[in-house]
Amino acid sequence: MNKLKEKIRDIPDFPKPGIIFKDITPLVKDPVAVRLAVHHLLHPFLERDITAVAGMEARGFIFGALVAWELGLPFVPLRKPGKLPYDVQSVSYDLEYGSATLEAHSDAFETGDRVLLIDDLLATGGTAKASCELVEKLGATVEACAFVVELDFLNGREKLEAYEVHSLLHF
Ligand code: 5GP
Repeated sequence: MNKLKEKIRDIPDFPKPGIIFKDITPLVKDPVAVRLAVHHLLHPFLERDITAVAGMEARGFIFGALVAWELGLPFVPLRKPGKLPYDVQSVSYDLEYGSATLEAHSDAFETGDRVLLIDDLLATGGTAKASCELVEKLGATVEACAFVVELDFLNGREKLEAYEVHSLLHF
């Protein structure tokens, strides 16, 4: 895991002063690191009855699609508003300033789908919680959430206490 941790770069004052952004692009630039991250992300779920994988825009698409491909399962993108062309369902959630919305196609899941949610990073948990609600609104069940990075000091896990949460790297 230390090899993977070395691939996460700190960018001070991005996207605004006082925030230290965890940049995952050095990790995705390294195919060995990507393979390792995907292997560890999906490992807890190899014997589980997962039927679909969903990823949050945008970096959740990178890892989510790879996990879905490895598991041989459908991938569902959870998108920012206005991007999807067909009928959508949406969930809005509060940010520090303002709010955000995630959307998915109304036929994205089959009724009873058991979904593994994947994102690059868990911070305050708002995005992941809204994603869980969106999956449920679409008639599916959240089997677990898995992240490459978790920022422990932001306590995002508390917002997800109703769900199983896995993270590879903790800061
Ligand atoms: P949350 O909703 O948990 O506060 O924020 C998590 C979402 O914002 C994820 O979709 C993640 O991609 C993005 N995010 C927030 N902070 C960071 C960061 O420091 N690095 C990266 N790579 N993504 C972040």
